[in-house]
Order: sequence, then C-alpha cells, then structure tokens
Amino acid sequence: MKKRFKVVFNREKCKGCELCISFCPKKILALDPEVNAKGYHPAGIVDQESCIGCASCAAMCPDLCISIYQLEEGE
Ligand code: SF4
Ligand code: SF4
Repeated sequence: MKKRFKVVFNREKCKGCELCISFCPKKILALDPEVNAKGYHPAGIVDQESCIGCASCAAMCPDLCISIYQLEEGE
C-alpha cells in the first residue's frame, strides 16, 4: 500500500520566501493568495495526495515552518 503523508505549514511564521516551493520535487507547493498577519503570502500544499514525504521542503525552510506526518491507513 502506498505511503501517504500530511504536510503542515505554520502559516503565521512563514515569510513567503518560496524556498520550499522551489525544492519540492513534485511541485505541489504554492503561495496562498491570502496574506498572513505579517503581510506575507504563506506557502501551502495544493496536492496532498501526491506528496512522497521526502521532507525536502521542511529541510529547506529557514524558519522551521513545515512539519511532515506519515498517515496511517484510513486517515
Ligand atoms: S515532503 Fe517532499 S514531496 Fe512532499 S511537499 Fe515536501 S518537498 Fe514536496
Ligand atoms: S521555506 Fe519556509 S518561510 Fe519560506 S515559503 Fe516555505 S514555509 Fe515559508
């Protein structure tokens, strides 16, 4: 069975630098058109099901805004 992952962003900490977006091999991250409280467009995931859990996004984020969880079957 294919492993599935959930990527969670801390949108209030994100400064919209786009590093995570450029390093995602699946190209499934994008900036939100809405701004956060600091006035930045925060990054988010647009296609959760395509995430391979490589953690490149989390490793690249200078502000530790990204957490990755492996989902159990049925989650
Ligand atoms: S874990 Fe990998 S595939 Fe998933 S969003 Fe982050 S960089 Fe992309
Ligand atoms: S690398 Fe971190 S701070 Fe930069 S856009 Fe991605 S989540 Fe936001």
